Amino acid sequence: MLHERLEAVYDNVLRRNAGETEFHQAVREVLESIGPVLGKHPEYAEQKIIERIFEPERQIIFRVPWEDDRGEVHINRGFRVEFNSALGPYKGGLRFHPSVYLGIVKFLAVEQIFKNSLTGLPIGAGKGGADFDPKGRSDREVMRFCQSFMTELYRHLGEHTDVPAGDIGVGGREIGYLFGQYKRITNRYESGVITGKGLAYGGAQVRTEATGYGCAFFVEEMLKARGTSFDGRRVVVSGSGNVAVYAIEKVSELGGVVVACSDSSGYVVDEKGIDLDLLKQVKEVERRRLSVYADRRGAGAAYVAGRSVWEVPCEVALPSATQNEITGKDAEALVRGGCVAVGEGANMPTMPEGIRVFREAGVAFGPGKAANAGGVATSALEMQQNASRDSWTFEFSERRLQEIMSDIHARCLETADTYGMPGDYVAGANIDGFRRVADAMLALGLI
Ligand code: GLU
Repeated sequence: MLHERLEAVYDNVLRRNAGETEFHQAVREVLESIGPVLGKHPEYAEQKIIERIFEPERQIIFRVPWEDDRGEVHINRGFRVEFNSALGPYKGGLRFHPSVYLGIVKFLAVEQIFKNSLTGLPIGAGKGGADFDPKGRSDREVMRFCQSFMTELYRHLGEHTDVPAGDIGVGGREIGYLFGQYKRITNRYESGVITGKGLAYGGAQVRTEATGYGCAFFVEEMLKARGTSFDGRRVVVSGSGNVAVYAIEKVSELGGVVVACSDSSGYVVDEKGIDLDLLKQVKEVERRRLSVYADRRGAGAAYVAGRSVWEVPCEVALPSATQNEITGKDAEALVRGGCVAVGEGANMPTMPEGIRVFREAGVAFGPGKAANAGGVATSALEMQQNASRDSWTFEFSERRLQEIMSDIHARCLETADTYGMPGDYVAGANIDGFRRVADAMLALGLI
């Protein structure tokens, strides 16, 4: 249920952003949480902060022409939505996936506002990408695409203006090509213009691992708050990309047993616990499908094609694949299977009905903007190291990440308590994230 004034804001968002369903969903989730804030702080409504916050500062859409290895020309569409710069330069990743359109980029960018705010670090919010499908493309093709994409985007970027990073389909390889082209066009070695760089050229320790590790740390805090831990618990992680792989690594170190993970064709179940070295070899080194993992792992591991990984019973679920991957029915199955905690490694993986099911069942539910904020937080640490021409050790960087995650967890709980919704991490994250940006926007005047 929405506060009356917020219902009008939402109707306006629907009207002005027709057809962008994921964006509507992300906005609505925030609006459902911030009603109680308006009662306490009439200044937000007076200055139309809520109306302003859901209108992006700038949206860029551009053509990306490139040539494949056979000389055929392809045209993709590139995007960068610069949503909010009240707290710092626009910050957020780039997604290369055929499903990308303006509505996906805007949902990701609006989530980023509250997520980045929650980290407590000086970063604004943006997101971008293209409807390019890197699957099956050679390194040279990916390089040519990245060069063409950056040839347009570079004019909008800068270490104090807009700082992209990776997301689905954009990892270390793509960041290297993007940074190389930016450097060539601008004739500037501006390390802080992009994060997720390789360690050889200005990257930061732990950035690759940060989203997955951070998610595991956040869930560890949620379990601790309930007087328990990962120790010996059965865990299912969806996805098998960057977030999933490092969530599996850290969960295993913390004592959990990850029995299943997935890709877009199905899932693998491995009761002895996922073999991380084999998973990394198949997914990161060879860039192959998850079914190859099951073939090589042999007895004990099975690949189940065309079904949802959420049918595997577990005590902790870490959805780390993509948006809207947990339906209401999946959530019911998870609850029936004994799930006590969910940490979103991906952005908005749980559908609104799923969140409702978890809330009613008393499952500890860590929303993505809190649970996966470790990625962007570590990007801010990379920017900090670039600005001071320094590089920190792995141990120190991981400790900083852990402190940031535990701080986010504490603030979510405290805020939820203050606003009379104890244990509601969704409300805590939305309210705390909103308040910091809103206060900065008020202070900066009508901009
Ligand atoms: N794409 C990541 C996210 O969803 C990371 C963004 C960044 O590091 O800037 O937060």
